[in-house]
Amino acid sequence: MNIIAILLPEHVFYKAEPVRELAQALTDQGYHIVYPSGSQDLLTLLEQNPRIAGIIFDWEQYGMDLCLAINEINEYLPLYAFISTHSVLDVSANDMRMALYFFEYGLNAAADISQRIRQYTAEYIDAIMPPLTKALFHYVEEGKYTFCTPGHMAGTAYQKSPVGSLFYDFFGGNTLKADVSISVTELGSLLDHTSSHLEAEEYIARTFGAEQSYMVTNGTSTSNKIVGMYASPAGSTVLIDRNCHKSLAHLLLMSDVVPIYLTPSRNAYGILGGIPQRQFSRACIAQKVAATPQASWPVHAVITNSTYDGLLYNTQYIKQTLAVPSIHFDSAWVPYTNFHPIYRGKSDMSGERTPDKVIFETQSTHKLLAAFSQASIIHIKGDYDELTFNEAYMMHTTTSPHYGIVASIEMAAAMVRGKPGRRLIQRSIERALHFRKEVYRLLQESEGWFFDIWQPEIIEDAVCWPVEPGAPWHGFRDADADHMYLDPIKVTILTPGMDETGEMASEGIPASLVAKFLNERGVVVEKTGPYNLLFLFSIGIDKTKAMSLLRGLTEFKRAYDLNLRVRNMLPDLYAEDPDFYRHMRIQDLAQGIHGLIRQQHLPQLMLNTFAVLPEMKMTPYAAFQQQVRGNVETVELSQMVGRISANMLLPYSPGVPVVMPGEMITEGSRAVLDFLLMLCSIGQHYPGFETDIHGAELTDDGRYWVRVLK
Ligand SMILES: *Cc1c(COP(=O)(O)O)cnc(C)c1O
Repeated sequence: MNIIAILLPEHVFYKAEPVRELAQALTDQGYHIVYPSGSQDLLTLLEQNPRIAGIIFDWEQYGMDLCLAINEINEYLPLYAFISTHSVLDVSANDMRMALYFFEYGLNAAADISQRIRQYTAEYIDAIMPPLTKALFHYVEEGKYTFCTPGHMAGTAYQKSPVGSLFYDFFGGNTLKADVSISVTELGSLLDHTSSHLEAEEYIARTFGAEQSYMVTNGTSTSNKIVGMYASPAGSTVLIDRNCHKSLAHLLLMSDVVPIYLTPSRNAYGILGGIPQRQFSRACIAQKVAATPQASWPVHAVITNSTYDGLLYNTQYIKQTLAVPSIHFDSAWVPYTNFHPIYRGKSDMSGERTPDKVIFETQSTHKLLAAFSQASIIHIKGDYDELTFNEAYMMHTTTSPHYGIVASIEMAAAMVRGKPGRRLIQRSIERALHFRKEVYRLLQESEGWFFDIWQPEIIEDAVCWPVEPGAPWHGFRDADADHMYLDPIKVTILTPGMDETGEMASEGIPASLVAKFLNERGVVVEKTGPYNLLFLFSIGIDKTKAMSLLRGLTEFKRAYDLNLRVRNMLPDLYAEDPDFYRHMRIQDLAQGIHGLIRQQHLPQLMLNTFAVLPEMKMTPYAAFQQQVRGNVETVELSQMVGRISANMLLPYSPGVPVVMPGEMITEGSRAVLDFLLMLCSIGQHYPGFETDIHGAELTDDGRYWVRVLK
């Protein structure tokens, strides 16, 4: 970080010459000097170049206006104002809180001033660096010799081996040097929450508006288990979002608790609409408790906020209404909601404490912020027992955490702080909004068909759009007012073939075809539904990526309209079964799959599937214990009616468990099986379109097998 921008003063010798001398002195010190042509040029430069570490300018010419404008971009950046003896200094106490330093024009002062600029640059870096990362960098720079793990010893071991050297060169020295042992006492300990690790936790808690935060190095999968183990003793009853991540299903296998499910609504596209408001009421919970053997009043609840498709809850309502002492929001997908006003009231840590309740939030720092994979945080607001919680934490935490991951959690927090952080989020919202408008424009302008976007009719401003009761766009029949909101950065593209009521058109383009086409062009789709594709506009998405997605969509349309051969349009798919696809054209393939979906009434099937849950014959915990005892056998998927499932069955997509361990599909819940069989049948007819069902095994003959209890 060594770029200094100089706004050259008007050309009078007494100003120009000292600045020229200073530029020379700074260059000699290793700074890179750039000269924007005016204040607007400077501001744009600044927005696009986060490595700029200081601005030199003429106070008389630019003054406080420029400072305020820069402050909007980065309030920490050092500003060096040059004044002459007759300059007026009208600086208020408020302005003095900026990193604003004054120097006088004068010859032969450059050496001294450049020295001070170096010091202020160091202070700037120190101010924006979070505590643990700072300590880790410092430790690595010191280059101590250790005689402890990890065995590669700051990378030295790799460099003694030919193949190891390749590994070293790829990852680079600092990655390996920063992989230090927990025995290094200077950095404190993740497990004991000491020294710079404790400072990092406090820093993260302050940043995210939590009372306490815990850094977790094995993903939100682990964070969810930690919270669950702490919050629900054996024998207790837990309310769980049926739209839960599989880590929560695993929690139910580990912990001897009785689950009661909150069931989210869904629309014909298969998009989850969130849990309707009435399900949070006492009456509704009491009814479920009464209907479930062994159940008692729940001690803990888990809600996925946001849903996979980007619907956020009004969290205030849930916190106030839900009559359980402990509420866990699984916010793996939305670690950024605390940093932009459009998410106010929808983030879990927002607002004051909720009387008599403790609120937990888990988030995958790595999913939509910038952190290494596995980076995750648990936030807490409310009273809890720190020592007991830490037992649950340690139970699931490695004693050899990767410090690179830990530092990246803290770094993600540092990046979203202040105005630079807000701008980062703002830009991803703007980019998504722009993309939405572009697709809409192309739809209006296109001849014949084009892709549509799942969003309200009018999307002028960047806001979270409410899923209002009765509004036609969303397709949810039971939407509640002020309850769910669509996050603009989660973009669902719709392909032709089905409308929001589930009405199927005579022709259609299943989304899986588009996903394959994009994938073969290096654009990877986050999630594919029958006629929808989900794209995440996270902070790493820049204009070029958004453009290549748009180009991919228009290219698909062109190739589809020309009715190209599958062989030319989807070579990877063709390679899966050249005989089958030899003469096939893209429109035949699309209509073939669309026909299968239509024939089996997919929208209705999907609604029915999630309308009636399979019957819980025993808790997931008890079912897993049976499995561990070997009391299971394998049957074909189609034969599982009347049998107790040993596994969780979870088709991708929608990626939500349809059968939990210990549950039985009965005649009443047969739709679940029909739905799974329908998904399987597409793969049986069209090679390359096999559905991935977690918990079921696909054999070479195209049959799916599941494990049931004997
Ligand atoms: C991805 C995900 C998790 C698990 O997070 P990891 O960081 O991948 O372990 C938990 N909950 C939800 C809702 C998720 O989408």
